Amino acid sequence: MKSAEDMVALFRQQGLKITPQRRAIFETLAEGAVHPSAEEVYRRVQEGLPDISRMTVYNTLRELVALGELVEVEDVSSSAMRYDTETGNHHHLFCLGCHALVDVDQSFEALELPQAAAAGYRIVRHQVTFYGYCPTCQKSNPR
Ligand SMILES: [Zn+2]
Ligand SMILES: [Zn+2]
Repeated sequence: MKSAEDMVALFRQQGLKITPQRRAIFETLAEGAVHPSAEEVYRRVQEGLPDISRMTVYNTLRELVALGELVEVEDVSSSAMRYDTETGNHHHLFCLGCHALVDVDQSFEALELPQAAAAGYRIVRHQVTFYGYCPTCQKSNPR
């Protein structure tokens, strides 16, 4: 993830306006919330800017995705979108109990899609998610 100042510079390069709202969103993301949902970003930014609209937050996150500064990670359990500030190829552990989403520090060299199975797609990235229960959830609800 770039610093808030780098994102300001990037937005300016693209001819996008820098508002105090956008700057606050950049700062919130740069502070390193891990895989926040748009709603979480909205709530955090709202602490400093109570009048910010949800629309502004959602639009800015979409713009950051379009610029390649954020990657969308699907949270299949609640069909919400989570945003990843780590844009390089990596994989995730997902807790089905508390919806914690953490990065896996492991690459899978052997993970390849044979051409015949790729249905003519040009593959640009892949992402593996391991679903389970985190240690905290295992303690509170053993199964
Ligand atoms: Zn959990
Ligand atoms: Zn991640």
